Amino acid sequence: PNASLVIANWKMNGNKALVKEMTAFLRDNKEQFNAVDVVVCPPFTLISDLTRECYYDDIAVGAQNVSEHESGAYTGEVSTSQLKEAGVGCVLIGHSERRQLFAENDEQINRKIKSALSADLQVVLCVGENKSQRDAGETWNVVSQQVKNALQDVATDNAGKIVVAYEPVWAIGTGDTATPEQAQEVHENLRALVVDLFGEIGNKLPLLYGGSVKPDNAKELFSQKDIDGGLIGGASLKTDDFLSICQAA
Ligand code: 13P
Repeated sequence: PNASLVIANWKMNGNKALVKEMTAFLRDNKEQFNAVDVVVCPPFTLISDLTRECYYDDIAVGAQNVSEHESGAYTGEVSTSQLKEAGVGCVLIGHSERRQLFAENDEQINRKIKSALSADLQVVLCVGENKSQRDAGETWNVVSQQVKNALQDVATDNAGKIVVAYEPVWAIGTGDTATPEQAQEVHENLRALVVDLFGEIGNKLPLLYGGSVKPDNAKELFSQKDIDGGLIGGASLKTDDFLSICQAA
């Protein structure tokens, strides 16, 4: 099937000028990717600018992280209700940079997911193996365990609000993208796993690929049977590149 969802993860990049430039550019070219849902996840400080710019557009606003706690003495954290109030519809949870650099573990990721779902946010669960795990033939062990742990005790009722993004760590920011076959192999297993966890609705759960998606490899990746779209880092900061990727979906 054609891919249907493209999410930009700006990471700790961007500014007000990029919000204006990107939204104006996407708006002007919207007819070129009408069937694709586009979400932009900027840093927290740019969320209000983005919601203002996107008000009349079909671009949705996401966040890159959220606290597992509802409110209170958690300096530097942002809650699900604060995201909702700011106009955020979805949130990335468990990105490999959060896992590696900020020591997030599966248990915490599971708590964040439950918290986000109870606030009615769409959850984009990010999973992926690192280079040594892949080299050791551990890819599916690692990825399946991450998914099972993250989604432990998540009710089937909530499955419609979950997206899984497969982002092999070795492909993130390296230019070393997974081949379409490597990505599809994991996605096929992911499809079976989410059907196993949630039943029939698992067939509709969007499975995104992320890791050095660029204009020249997007089409082939997105044409794989179980790849429903992409989670885009570096290329989501350049208007031309991001538009090309949206068009490829
Ligand atoms: P790159 O597209 O820069 O490899 O980043 C992928 C990513 O981490 C998106 O979340």
